[in-house]
Amino acid sequence: MASDDRPDRYPFPAIEAKWQRAWEERRQFRATEDPARPKYYCLEMFPYPSGRIHMGHVRVYAIGDLLARFKWMRGYNVLHPMGWDAFGLPAENAAIDNGVHPAVWTYENITNMRTQLQRMGISYDWDRELATCEPSYYKWEQLVFIRMFERGLAYRKRSTVNWCPSCQTILANEQVEAGRCWRCDSEVAVKEVEGWFFKITDYAEELLAWCDRLPGWPERVMTMQRNWIGKSEGAEFDLPVVERDDVRIRIFTTRPDTSFGMTYAVLAPEHPLVDALVRDADERVAVDAFRQEVAGQSEIERLAADRPKRGLRLRARAINPFTDAEIPLFLADYVLMGYGTGAIMAVPGEDQRDWDFAKQYGLSIVATVKRPEGWDDSEAYTGDGVKINSGFLDGLDVAEAKRAAIEWLERRGLGEAKVNYRLRDWGISRQRYWGAPIPIVYCSACGMVPEREENLPVVLPRDVQISGKGGSPLAEVAGFVNTPCPRCGGRGRRETDTMDTFVESSWYFLRYCSPHYDQGMFDRAAAEYWMPVDQYIGGIEHAVLHLLYARFYTKVLRDLGFIKVDEPFTALLSQGMVIKDGAKMSKSKGNVVDPDDLIRRYGADTARLFSLFAAPPEKDLDWNDRGVEGASRFLNRVWRFVTRHLAELRGAGPAAPAALSGPGRAFRRIIHETIRRVTDDIEKDVHFNTAISAVMELVNALHDFEPESMDAMPREERGALLREGVETALLLLGPVCPHVTEELWSRLGHGESLFRRPWPVADPAAVEREEITIVVQVDGRVRSRLTVHAAAGEGEIRERALGDGKVTPWLDGRRVAKVVVVPGRIVNIVTRG
Ligand SMILES: [Zn+2]
Ligand SMILES: [Zn+2]
Repeated sequence: MASDDRPDRYPFPAIEAKWQRAWEERRQFRATEDPARPKYYCLEMFPYPSGRIHMGHVRVYAIGDLLARFKWMRGYNVLHPMGWDAFGLPAENAAIDNGVHPAVWTYENITNMRTQLQRMGISYDWDRELATCEPSYYKWEQLVFIRMFERGLAYRKRSTVNWCPSCQTILANEQVEAGRCWRCDSEVAVKEVEGWFFKITDYAEELLAWCDRLPGWPERVMTMQRNWIGKSEGAEFDLPVVERDDVRIRIFTTRPDTSFGMTYAVLAPEHPLVDALVRDADERVAVDAFRQEVAGQSEIERLAADRPKRGLRLRARAINPFTDAEIPLFLADYVLMGYGTGAIMAVPGEDQRDWDFAKQYGLSIVATVKRPEGWDDSEAYTGDGVKINSGFLDGLDVAEAKRAAIEWLERRGLGEAKVNYRLRDWGISRQRYWGAPIPIVYCSACGMVPEREENLPVVLPRDVQISGKGGSPLAEVAGFVNTPCPRCGGRGRRETDTMDTFVESSWYFLRYCSPHYDQGMFDRAAAEYWMPVDQYIGGIEHAVLHLLYARFYTKVLRDLGFIKVDEPFTALLSQGMVIKDGAKMSKSKGNVVDPDDLIRRYGADTARLFSLFAAPPEKDLDWNDRGVEGASRFLNRVWRFVTRHLAELRGAGPAAPAALSGPGRAFRRIIHETIRRVTDDIEKDVHFNTAISAVMELVNALHDFEPESMDAMPREERGALLREGVETALLLLGPVCPHVTEELWSRLGHGESLFRRPWPVADPAAVEREEITIVVQVDGRVRSRLTVHAAAGEGEIRERALGDGKVTPWLDGRRVAKVVVVPGRIVNIVTRG
C-alpha cells in the first residue's frame, strides 16, 4: 500500500477493493430476463486459461466493460458474462513438462485469472461463469454431435489432412496459417488418416449470403470470410482420353467461355485416375518420383503465383471436346486435388498460371478474347472483351459466351453449370487427451453407433498417462475404451479422439443465457430473450476460425430445432493488438508488460483509461510509459479537484438554466456539448479515445471555471454549475474508470451507485450556439477559422474572410477568382496566379 502514502496519488488500492466488494455484495451486475426492458448482450471472446492475463486481455475487457456499463446507464438490461475456454493443448503440454494433471493445471489457472479479472473491476455477472471442460457443459455438445451424426452433418472419413508434428494432431484447414500450425507455429505436414468432420460445406451458401446481411461486422472480417468460403461459378465437363473409351477426365472451370483456347489439360498428381493412365513401368517410375517431389510441398507453396511450376507430361493424351483436337496431358504441382475436381483445362491465353506453365514447357497459347489496343502479349489476358478463335462463341462477350458454352455442354450431355467452394469440411478429430470425448462406439456387428442419450455425458477419464509420444492417450485407458455397444450390447470400443476445442467455443454464448440449466443445452426462453449477442468483441485472428465456426454451429442448432436465431453475433468489434517497441507483446521478444504490475503501481482505473485512450479500439495500441503516467495524472487531477471543492459541491443546489449569467451560460454549454460528443463517440462512432478526450476538455474547463475571477458570479450559480460539471464528468467517465468515479460520486453525497443513474442527456437549449465557427479555405486548404454570429449574412462572412489576418498572406500577389460561402460552415476562396 506504499502508493497510498504518496501525496500525489489518490488512494486507489483501498478505493478499488472497496467498490469491487460493494458491487459483488449488492450483486449489482447480475442479469435476469426482463421482457419489459430492451436487452443488450455484450460479450468479449472468452479467454483460454493460460494462467495470467496479458495487456491484450486488459484492452478487450476494458472495451467490453465500457460498453456494458454505458448500456446499463442507458436503461438496457445488460448481459455481460465471463467464462473459460478450458480445453486445449497447453494444459496437456504442462502435464508432460511438469507432471501436473491438465485438470489441476487448468483450474489453478482459472482461479488466478479470475482474481486478476476481478481486480480490474469488470461488471461481469459472475453467477454465469462457466468452464468448457466441465462434463455438465460438454454433455450438450455430445448430444448435438449425435444429432449431427444422425443427419450426416458429422461423419468419419479417411482423407489427407493437415498434421502438426509438434502438437501430434490433425488441424482443420482454418488452423493452418501460411503452412504453419496456428497454435505452435510448426510447419504443418500432410498425412492420410481417418477422422471426424463437420459438414460446414452444406452451409457454404448460407454463410456467404449472410456476409452481406451483417452490417455490424467489420468489412475486413466479412471479406476474409467470403474469400475463405471462396465461391466460384463455372462449369464441370468431361474430357475424353485418346484411345481410352473407358476413361473420362472431369474438369471444373470458372471460364467455360475460354474452352476453345484449351491447349493442354492438367491433373493433380494425387488424382485417382493417374494410375489408370500410366502406360508402363517406366512411366510408373517417373510418376512416382514426381508425386514424391510434390508431396514435400505445402499447399501454400504449390499455389504461390511467383514460383516456377513443375509438371510431368503423361504419354496419354486428352481431347478438347470443343475443337476435337488432341491435347497433351500433364501432372502439375499447381493443381490440387481438394479444389474442384482435381483436374483443369489449361487456357494459357486467359489464365496466368497456365500461361507461365505453357511458357516453361513450350506449349501453344491461343487467345480467345480480343486484346485491348496496345496489348503487348507478355502475359495472359484476364479481362473482358469480344470472343475470338472460338467457333460458335465468336462475337459474344465473356458473360454471354460462358452461358452459351454451358448450354452447348448440357445439350450434348458432356457437362453442366457448377458452383464450387473453396471451403472444405471442418476436421474436428484431435488425437489428444484434454478435450471433449466423441460419443461414438465401434461395434464389430453394428459398426459406428452413437452413445445412448441417457448415457451422456461420456466423461473424460481423469486417470490417464500423457506422454506426448503420439496417438490418442485415451486409447490406453481400458476402462474408457471398452464399453458395451449401445445397440446390441456386445463388445464395443469407444472413439478415442477428442473434439477440436473450437467446438466448445462455437456455442458458449448460448450456454451463458442459462449456464446452470440441466434439462438441455440451454433454457430456450432465456436464449431467445438474450440472443443474438448484440456486441461481440475479439481479435481479427479469429476471422475464419472461431467466427466462422460459431456462425456455422448456430445455424446447425437452428436446423436441429434448438433455437430460432440465424446468426450469433449482430455486431463485431475487432480490436487491434497491443504493441511495444514495434512488436506485438510476447515473452520471446521480452517486451511484455504485466497487467498486475501496472494495476499495483497505478490502479485498475489507470490501466483501463490508458488502454481505451491510447488508440481507437480497432487500431493497434502502441504501449508507452508516458501514456500511462498521463492517464494516472489525469485521474489524480480529477480526484484533487473534487475533493478540494467537496464542501462547496455538497452544498450546491441545481442550476437554474433560465437565470444564468453570460459566463454561466457559456460554461453550461461546454458541459452539455461534452455530453453530446461523448454519447455520439461511444454509441455511433465507437471512438472511445475521442470520447475520453472530450471529458478531459471538460475537466480542463472546470479548472478554468475555478479562479477567483468567477467570484463576480453569484455564489449559488457558481456552486450549481460546478456541481453539474463535476457530476457530468464523473458520469461520463464512469464506464471507463468505474472505481474512482464511484468513490467521488458517493463522496458527493449520493447514496445510490453511479451506475444506477441514467446516462446524462444533453439539454438542447444549453448547446444552442449564438456564435458559430466557419472554416476559411484558400484553394482547398484550411487557412483560418472565423467566429461569427449564427445569424451573420453571406456578405458579412465574405468580407470578414477576405480581411482575416491569417488569410491575407495566402492572397498576396494572386487574384481572387471566386468566393463560395456555405452559410454556417465554410468559405472557399479560389485564386489565380
Ligand atoms: Zn502445432
Ligand atoms: Zn453392436
